[in-house]
Amino acid sequence: MGRLTTAGVHVAGVTKSFGDVEVLHGVSLSVQAGRMLALLGPSGCGKTTLLRIIAGLERPDAGTVVVGEHVLTDGRQVVPPERRHVGMVFQDWALFPHLSVAANVAYGLRKLPAAETKERVADALAMVGLAELADRSPETLSGGQQQRIALARAIAPRPSVLLLDEPFSNLDAALRGQVRTEVHHLLAALGITTIFVTHDQEEAFVLGDDVAVVRGGRIVQQAAPTAVYARPADRWVAEFVGDANLLPGQAQGGSASTVIGPITLEAEHHGPVDVLVRPEELRIVADVAGGAQVELVEFYGHDTVSLVRLAEGTLLRVRTPGAPVAARDERVELTFAGDGAVAYPR
Ligand code: ATP
Repeated sequence: MGRLTTAGVHVAGVTKSFGDVEVLHGVSLSVQAGRMLALLGPSGCGKTTLLRIIAGLERPDAGTVVVGEHVLTDGRQVVPPERRHVGMVFQDWALFPHLSVAANVAYGLRKLPAAETKERVADALAMVGLAELADRSPETLSGGQQQRIALARAIAPRPSVLLLDEPFSNLDAALRGQVRTEVHHLLAALGITTIFVTHDQEEAFVLGDDVAVVRGGRIVQQAAPTAVYARPADRWVAEFVGDANLLPGQAQGGSASTVIGPITLEAEHHGPVDVLVRPEELRIVADVAGGAQVELVEFYGHDTVSLVRLAEGTLLRVRTPGAPVAARDERVELTFAGDGAVAYPR
């Protein structure tokens, strides 16, 4: 499988309104060549609009889009989509049901001589593992295979950047995880710069080398998934990426006193704060004299999630490895077992 010639993407100050409503408010982001960036945000936050601006399908009111050395969008010009060397996979895949798999893939290569088209189609289908199915109709194939056709069609013109809009939302839940791993594997082997849109935190974390969290037409944080998870830019991001317990506390320098005892902070604070404690950073100790009580137990196989009510009323989510350590209604003590926690001043 060949690697494609790829390039970094730099977006700066992109603004876009539809009618009187501004949906992107000066968005900037960068993806290095060969990396995967997830645009993660709730429905309606502007992710798809941003992707369409990078693809050249939408014209921004202001701002620039640069791919490698090429300025594709700026105040004066917008290079049309077909001249951008940017491949796009649409949310619904947009396959032509009356055309064969090969003809679908050839669709983006209309200007090339027949022999070269044939070679490119064969290459692209081989890359996605569909060479044997070239003559079939897409409708006769599984969801995962149809998605790979869409991917083959996007990479056949040998783009330097790939854009994917909600790439797995068309697949049912049972298939999604498996197809996601296949596509991840394939894109990692291709080494092509990829920007994909998702509202699913797990998908963003699993596939993204970096995650740009979008909220209300702004990027509120762009960082590696581990950094976004461990040090969310604000409370909203903390709660959007994974489960978050926000414990009220009183900070005195590098530590905060909270209802479950003192918690070491990763930065110094003073005064009232909310301390971010992830469920897996808490430990449950069964203790008949404990001040907390287990209200609900959910066993997932690899781990257990317990909802634990503290004496003063707060309900915390706790994730412990393996089987439950305490049953519903049992009294327990909770302890913080993380490293330094992030705190948000109140
Ligand atoms: P979703 O996941 O629901 O698609 P999104 O984050 O991708 O959400 P966008 O599709 O970019 O969000 O839409 C952002 C906002 O812009 C929404 O309020 C949407 O209704 C509006 N919008 C998008 N495209 C158009 C359009 N062509 N005309 C008018 N409004 C639009």
